[in-house]
Amino acid sequence: RTVYVNGAYLPEDQATVSIFDRGFVMADAVYEVVSVLDGKLIDFDGHQARLTRSLDALEIGNPLSDAEYLAMFRELVSRNEITDGMIYLQVTRGNPGDRDFAYPDPDTPQTVVAFTQAKPGLADSPAARTGWKVITVPDERWGRRDIKTTQLLYPSMAKMAAKAQGADDAWLVEDGKITEGTSNNAYIVKGNRIITRELSHDILHGITRAAVLRLARESQMQVEERGFSVEEAQQADEAFVTSASAFVMPVVEIDGAAIGDGAVGTVAARLREIYLDEMRRTAI
Ligand code: PMP
Repeated sequence: RTVYVNGAYLPEDQATVSIFDRGFVMADAVYEVVSVLDGKLIDFDGHQARLTRSLDALEIGNPLSDAEYLAMFRELVSRNEITDGMIYLQVTRGNPGDRDFAYPDPDTPQTVVAFTQAKPGLADSPAARTGWKVITVPDERWGRRDIKTTQLLYPSMAKMAAKAQGADDAWLVEDGKITEGTSNNAYIVKGNRIITRELSHDILHGITRAAVLRLARESQMQVEERGFSVEEAQQADEAFVTSASAFVMPVVEIDGAAIGDGAVGTVAARLREIYLDEMRRTAI
């Protein structure tokens, strides 16, 4: 695989970052994951806008322009012959040359790395036909989940807890309400209403969430942005999650309780179709 590090395209075994890099010792870094379908980037502008927001929130400089990120992503897709897959991008505060809690001088060059992951058939995942089982666990992450940082240890622990119970993912619960999944936004459906937690510092502002809610409203579905409890979710007609890599993924079981009739819901299936159609149409 050819990867990108600070302006260079290198074989992955020759790509290196300093052990003093703030991304390594402090998780002082933000990231984005952009899907690739048919060799084209899905919702590049949305991910680019969030990258800028995350960097601004942490006062990390942005070393590249949107056009330069676009060119770099396309170069990686082309060099690695990616048809379906993902691009992972990470920007760190860089390498101050030593370990210190205080941020280094803002002139310290940021570290930018990116790589591709091939996922043949990404959009026809068999899981989308059967749906995910999720468990719920307390949300013990930090309070600025709207910033897409690489502090992913708690979500990893929650994912492992799910796997240990034979489930696919975990939904995180705070003050009696679901915040989101380990790496996706969470929704329930009641009749013609799609319910998902409102935007705040408590959740990541999903790029897929924004697109799916826009498309749902355009399709005359009702959207209610508010928190919901585990009990309400278990009694819903349907449930699903959204993310750049899972698109719209139906959820059929929460903490062992079947949602609706336990099969993939019609609203989730339709939203997945509408979303994928629109994203393929607007991919660049
Ligand atoms: N919430 C969390 C905690 C996530 O990690 C992700 C995916 N990175 C999402 C939501 C979904 O965001 P997006 O649709 O932009 O992939």
